Amino acid sequence: MEKTVWEKYEEEGLNKISEFAEDYRLFLSASKTEREFTENARKAAEECGFADLNSLSGPLKAGDRVYAVNRNKNICLFVIGRKPLTCGMNILGAHIDSPRMDLKQHPLYEKDGIALFDTHYYGGIKKYQWVARPMALHGIVCLKDGTSVSIVIGEKDDDPVVGVTDLLIHLAAKQMQKKGSEVVEGEALNLTVGSIPAKTEDDKVKEPVKQYILDLLKERYGIEEEDFVSAEIEVVPAGPARDYGLDRSMIMGYGHDDRVCAYTSMRALFDTDAPERTSCCILVDKEEIGSVGATGMHSRWFEMVVTRMLGLNGQADLISLNDTFTNSKMLSSDVSAGYDPNYPEVNDPKNCAYFGKGIVFNKFTGARGKSGSNDANPEFIAEVRKAMELDDVMYQTSELGAVDVGGGGTIAYITAQLNMDVLDAGISVHNMHAPSEIVSKADVYEGYRAYKAFLKNIG
Ligand code: MN
Ligand code: MN
Repeated sequence: MEKTVWEKYEEEGLNKISEFAEDYRLFLSASKTEREFTENARKAAEECGFADLNSLSGPLKAGDRVYAVNRNKNICLFVIGRKPLTCGMNILGAHIDSPRMDLKQHPLYEKDGIALFDTHYYGGIKKYQWVARPMALHGIVCLKDGTSVSIVIGEKDDDPVVGVTDLLIHLAAKQMQKKGSEVVEGEALNLTVGSIPAKTEDDKVKEPVKQYILDLLKERYGIEEEDFVSAEIEVVPAGPARDYGLDRSMIMGYGHDDRVCAYTSMRALFDTDAPERTSCCILVDKEEIGSVGATGMHSRWFEMVVTRMLGLNGQADLISLNDTFTNSKMLSSDVSAGYDPNYPEVNDPKNCAYFGKGIVFNKFTGARGKSGSNDANPEFIAEVRKAMELDDVMYQTSELGAVDVGGGGTIAYITAQLNMDVLDAGISVHNMHAPSEIVSKADVYEGYRAYKAFLKNIG
């Protein structure tokens, strides 16, 4: 058997890897928040013949393509199978939120002649990685009249960018003695946003640099200072994802975790026609902060969507819902830690993920005695192995780091509560949770093929 995906394919296959990776690079660059991903996914789905579930009065028939969107922040897509829904679905799940900094509800202030935005970071980050680099603002400001203003600043070539400053090395002797977790403190993650004082005769204006920014926001976006109370502005690395490596074998960009699994799962669903079992792709928000909230995996929204689908076919009863979930099988995908030759000591080399060797299956994740992990059933893992081999898909298995080194959570244990078989899967990443993460193009393409094989061959 070939050692890597690169060696497995001839010219035609290698071209497909490049084409697929380029589609992904562009989608990722345009989808830096859960809202942007959801909206771009909805548009792409409609182009592929998907209809809004809420616009249908049923019944659903084999081959129908439907989607549902929840509060503009998460999306669920289905291709209806030939067998009844109660026979179970083949489900692909992933999350579309990523670590970042969020503006606080009272963000803007002036200090010593500089205007700044105060932030609270989102998800697990090494804070020192997020300073001294160009950042963009993406988000939404909701106004009391029910309208909202979308904001994207820092992505066009002639846009300004913002950022968090770091201390110059010349004066950093004391800072450099600190522990990594304290080099940059959470409350020090303040964005520099302006330095021109407003020209005003008004004595009441005590903070003219802040005033200048307020005037600019009012003029350009029609928003007042108090409107930040009902805003959700995310601070993300500016600029597009890029080809990485002299051989262009990888992609460096913001938010591969977990949009690389979300995109490949979604594309696999788009490319599925009239399957035996209903195929589903659910993309959720809030994984990085515990899958909480109405748009996270802990929400009962997914059950509500499936109940609605059963209802269209006259089966909106609890037994039908229970049968549907009990008979369902899921790949819950989240990125894996790719083996990094700079840091070999954190892995067990027999049980870790390598770039270019395909999708990764994790029987368990978790930490300290598999704690918090889904720990998939081997009967189901055997089915998945067979499904992959039927379509000649290259795959590997790993756990997240060596025993007791660390660990991580995913959404697998949450959907398993619906009594379905769930296996953790994903694409491996270098620099996970850094502003610029890296994936192998070979793994992106082979991951997509793995998801297609799962939808087609399981059941
Ligand atoms: Mn993560
Ligand atoms: Mn993740």
